[in-house]
Amino acid sequence: MKILKFGGTSVGSAERMKAVASLIQNDEPKIVVLSAMSGTTNALVQIAEKLHQNMNQEARALIDALHDKYKQVAEELYSSPAKKKQAEELLINHFEYIRSFTLDLFTIHEERAVLAQGELLSTALFQFYLEEQNLPSVLLPALNFMKIDENEEPDTEYIAKNLRSELEQHTGNKLFITQGYICRNAFGEVDNLKRGGSDYSASLIGAAADAEEIQIWTDIDGMHNNDPRIVKNTYPIAELSFDEAAELAYFGAKILHPSSVYPAKQKDIPVRLLNTMQPEAKGTIITSQSKGGSIKAVAAKDDITAIKIKSGRMLLAYGFLRSVFEVFERYKTPIDMITTSEVAVSLTIDNSKFLDEIVRELKEFGQVEVDQEQTIICVVGDFIAERSGSGLKIFEALQYIPLRMISYGGSKNNISLLINTTDKVEALTRLNDGIFERNTANA
Ligand code: ADP
Ligand code: ASP
Ligand code: MG
Repeated sequence: MKILKFGGTSVGSAERMKAVASLIQNDEPKIVVLSAMSGTTNALVQIAEKLHQNMNQEARALIDALHDKYKQVAEELYSSPAKKKQAEELLINHFEYIRSFTLDLFTIHEERAVLAQGELLSTALFQFYLEEQNLPSVLLPALNFMKIDENEEPDTEYIAKNLRSELEQHTGNKLFITQGYICRNAFGEVDNLKRGGSDYSASLIGAAADAEEIQIWTDIDGMHNNDPRIVKNTYPIAELSFDEAAELAYFGAKILHPSSVYPAKQKDIPVRLLNTMQPEAKGTIITSQSKGGSIKAVAAKDDITAIKIKSGRMLLAYGFLRSVFEVFERYKTPIDMITTSEVAVSLTIDNSKFLDEIVRELKEFGQVEVDQEQTIICVVGDFIAERSGSGLKIFEALQYIPLRMISYGGSKNNISLLINTTDKVEALTRLNDGIFERNTANA
């Protein structure tokens, strides 16, 4: 069994959906995980914002515009009047459901139900297309097996058990279609795996089904050595280890959802990143093997807050760091980077929801300074294999950029640097020129 996930751009138009259908036409058993068509989840987020603000007329206008867009897609996707009609009715059902929230109470629960519509639509429309093409396939409702627990972590046992029982109802079938991103939560309500979560769905499904491979099909030919949205002349990396890919995904490489490597790593299932626009390109293969010897890639994560606690009296005291960490634990706020000195400890967080409460409690330990609008630059590679020189190259490249924190040695894959977000573009560009040599890279 293989898992093939197609992202928003890959199913972003009638033409793209047809291309996906031809890509999946072989005899290999597979589960195809689809995102919403590109732009849809953003549109649904906007609609939800209007509904939260009681701006129902504006919401209705946005819903109508989205409905029109889908009518156009259906018109182009199907050739038979029967399928066009079926799709038209499907669209009416979904859009009437969304419209119903303009007349009723709108809370976070209704918002999640609205956000789920994108993946429900893309998979249903795609399934109709396969039917029209006489390609036997089964639509598996993700809401029947994908689940998160009370800590918003995937309930992997539940997922495996329920996915298995869904698959068992269709033995003999080789092609399954399901929704990425959407799930049920601990209360059985419709929920989601956060933005970009379809990658995570694919990986969780791969782990649950003991798949032989998880393929993430997107609009670029694999994980690039630097952020292609910001830097010119980036190139795809042929091979990465799970740990390297996880660091890059966590620290901002948008091609993968931050948590999506972990389930694959747990089951040692290779993850392949491929390009729907260029299916013959090699892409990136992520496995347990690390191809050592070079700095492989750079990624950047924005919206970071740095917190410094200065306390000459207490810092080296037994138990001090534990007390500091406990504050973050109480507010369920993960720490990304940490550095210490004789008199101070600096930490970074990417979720500042409880910043005021955290700072108030930390003030009991000493002086607290907060810097917002920070960015973590994460340099990933095999730093044990390349013992000498990496640090020099990185610091030379960044010599004119103020570095707020440096973290090295936490893992052998990663050197992280904290800078002001205003310096990000320059830092990524200078690193691109300074640390990668195109001809020695394993591209
Ligand atoms: P999908 O809709 O298929 O999930 P995404 O937009 O989520 O696609 O992810 C693909 C995009 O990630 C690429 O178009 C690219 O702009 C961006 N990206 C950011 N960093 C990287 C990187 N290091 N390598 C490849 N793509 C990256
Ligand atoms: N449709 C969701 C989003 O746009 C999930 C995904 O595409 O991965 O965030
Ligand atoms: Mg994505």
